[in-house]
Amino acid sequence: MQEKNERYKKEYHAKYKQDENRKTVQKSRCPYAKKCGGCQFIDMPYEKQLERKQKELKALLGKFARVSPIIGMEDPLHYRHKVHAVMGYEKGEPIAGVYQEKSHRLVRVDQCLIENEKADAIIQSIRGLLKSFKIKTYDEDSDRGLLRHIMVRVSHATGEIMVILVLRSPILPSKNNFAKALLKLHPEITTIVLNVNDKKTTMVLGQRDIVLYGSGFIYDSLCGVRFRLSPQSFYQVNPLQTEILYREALKLAKLTKKDKVIDAYCGIGTIGLIASRQAGSVLGIELNREAVKDAKENAKHNQCKNIEFACADAGEYMVEMAQAGEKADVVIMDPPRSGSNEAFLSSVCRLSPNRIVYISCGPQSLARDLDYLTAHGYRTERIQPVDLFPMTVHVESVVLLSKRMVDSRKVKVDFSLEDMDLSEFKGKATYEQIKAYVLEETGLKVSSLYIAQIKKKCGLDVGENFNLSKSDNARKPQCTPEKEDAIMQAFKLFGMI
Ligand code: SAH
Repeated sequence: MQEKNERYKKEYHAKYKQDENRKTVQKSRCPYAKKCGGCQFIDMPYEKQLERKQKELKALLGKFARVSPIIGMEDPLHYRHKVHAVMGYEKGEPIAGVYQEKSHRLVRVDQCLIENEKADAIIQSIRGLLKSFKIKTYDEDSDRGLLRHIMVRVSHATGEIMVILVLRSPILPSKNNFAKALLKLHPEITTIVLNVNDKKTTMVLGQRDIVLYGSGFIYDSLCGVRFRLSPQSFYQVNPLQTEILYREALKLAKLTKKDKVIDAYCGIGTIGLIASRQAGSVLGIELNREAVKDAKENAKHNQCKNIEFACADAGEYMVEMAQAGEKADVVIMDPPRSGSNEAFLSSVCRLSPNRIVYISCGPQSLARDLDYLTAHGYRTERIQPVDLFPMTVHVESVVLLSKRMVDSRKVKVDFSLEDMDLSEFKGKATYEQIKAYVLEETGLKVSSLYIAQIKKKCGLDVGENFNLSKSDNARKPQCTPEKEDAIMQAFKLFGMI
């Protein structure tokens, strides 16, 4: 393994030296680059790729906090441990490849610079076996043929390999002999699964899995915790960088044995299980049923007794938790690229955790969600990008948000924002609480009279002591626009408007 890494590194650096020495790169280092389009940065030196990602994140997220230097890979090639090939025909020959960018045209790819090499070799072997086993690849247009996709998952830690053959129908001719022949070529394969996808769909996997060989799952480990992976469950594609990402996330979460932690969008429970060693208790929330099954199995396997999992839409589940008046100390969230939704985010605010650790692979949706959270009582403390997807435009970031606290040195009041459930303040925040919030946020001191004036302006009940008549109101000094804005902000935070 070590030797191989060294070899890759040398090859990689030699190639880049060549490219950099040339004034212009005439030929891409990847023969499929033009058609495939998956690696937008394949011909850009890695240092430049990192610089570019850093710059883009700064432009997008810089308004929330300083963006720490991105953590790149030492060897940014062949990092993908999950490889997916679409099967088809070219000039009467079965081929494995990818869909051309923004189209449904299949491009033959025999070897890929970012995919695990063993996985690529297995796919090529399967392709080579098809003819002798009379297995036809699937044709979308005619809805004919059998083999639609091949997926290979290689465990980084254990070397175990899962092969998934996605079929149009459950019957694979001479399936046992086929498995034997494949295993003869690749004895390192630990399990083979047939997945049935009989729908006309762009989704790769169907619902049904039939185990052809082995246990139907493989194990991998991250940060010292072992995980079971099923064909269907989500797992980060770059395990080396994922470990770094999770370490960063946990460093920021600063967990203690007293903390009640929520791991939202938890997949097979990876982050939550690693966190459970430092936390009081963890609740994982995940929509995919198979992933939750794996997560529960993983908890058992690792003897984690302080973690539970809920199979649900994270937004809906959090709304219920907030309505039931539940609380959390830390929320770790890792939503899909499209980000979270308002139901989820508003419930997070109501659960009122001290810290939110937001892991994101979609900087645009992250910026949108940070806008919401920072307008609702949270402050962005750290933004740490990690390059999980070298050669591509994609980038992962982990962000720490903490609840805005009232500085007790500045304000002498007998409450702190930390102890408050903002949802309970609908129209009820006291004048002192509003003053404290405004002072903490803007450094401005506002009087009860000003608050009363703005309340009146918003049509809110000003309370007995401030029930001013119109003329009273006019006679008294008027609030400046700056203070008015700050007071309105407080009204919003406390759910009064
Ligand atoms: N934290 C995990 C998984 C992150 S990927 C890890 O690091 O491995 C995002 C996960 O969110 C996927 O497992 C996906 O199934 C899940 N998901 C997508 N939409 C969801 C929703 N509305 N509610 C809960 N989980 C959801």
